[in-house]
Amino acid sequence: MMTIISIINGHQRIWRWIALLLISLSLAYPMQSYAGNNGRFQLEFGKSDNKTFQDIAVIFKESGQFQSIIDGLNREFVIPENIKVEFADKEGPLYDPATKTITMSYDYIFYLTTVYLEKYPKANDDAILRFTTGSTTFLFYHELAHSLIDVYHLPIVSSEEAAADNLAVIISLEYTNDGYTIAMDSAELFDLLEETNEEYDDDELWDEHALDSQRFYNIICLTYGRYPERVAKELKELKNEKLLAFIEEKGEYCVSEYERQLQAWLQLLEPHLVSQ
Ligand SMILES: [Zn+2]
Repeated sequence: MMTIISIINGHQRIWRWIALLLISLSLAYPMQSYAGNNGRFQLEFGKSDNKTFQDIAVIFKESGQFQSIIDGLNREFVIPENIKVEFADKEGPLYDPATKTITMSYDYIFYLTTVYLEKYPKANDDAILRFTTGSTTFLFYHELAHSLIDVYHLPIVSSEEAAADNLAVIISLEYTNDGYTIAMDSAELFDLLEETNEEYDDDELWDEHALDSQRFYNIICLTYGRYPERVAKELKELKNEKLLAFIEEKGEYCVSEYERQLQAWLQLLEPHLVSQ
C-alpha cells in the first residue's frame, strides 16, 4: 500500500502549491469579488450490487486519496455552484454539464486493471494498484478540467478534449508529488488502449477524444517538456527506440509547448482561486 500512501501525501500538498505559485501572478490582475460564489466539490461513493465494484469503492474510499483531492480543491478554488464527484456503477468517466457531475465509473476502473493485466499478466498487486490509481487520477483530472472549463466559461479556442488532457498533465506534474508517475501511467494507458484497437471503427473516428495514440504522444511530449532528463533516462533504460526517436525530433518543441501550456492555464485559472 506504499503507493496509495505516497499518493495521499502528494495530494495534500497539491493545492497549497498551486496557490503559492499563483499568488506571485495575482498582483498583475484585478481582484474579483466572489459574493454568491459558494459552490463546493462534493465526493460520493455510489452503491453497487457487483462484488468487484464494491471492492473498488472500498479501496478508493478507504485510501482517502480522492477525499484529499476534493478537500484541496475546496480550499483553493472558488466555484459558482456545487460540482458533484461520484464514483458509481454508471457509465464514465464523464462530466455532465447539465447536472454539474463528474462520474468515475467502477466498471471503467475495473477495465483499467484488465487492460493492464492483459499486457502484464504477471504484474504484482502493487503494480496493478499503482497503474489503476494513477490512470484513474489522470482521468479524474481530465474530467475536472471539463468541469472548470464549464463553470468558469473558460475560453478554449482549440479542441476542449486536448485542452482537458493538457490541464490534467499540468495538474499532475506541477501539483502532485508523484505526478510524474500519474502522467506516465496515463500515457501507458493510452498506449495499451491503442494496442487493443487494431482497427478503428467509424464510432471511434468520430469520437470527440483524440485517438489514443495521439493522446499518448501528447502526454509523453508534455511530460518530457517538464522533465526532459528524467524521461530521456527512463526511455534509454527501457531501450524504447521509437520514443527516443520521437523526443530526439520533437524534444525542443515539447519543452516550449509545456511552458506555453503552463503559462496559459495559470493565467486562465488565477482569477478563480481563493485569495490568500
Ligand atoms: Zn473529455
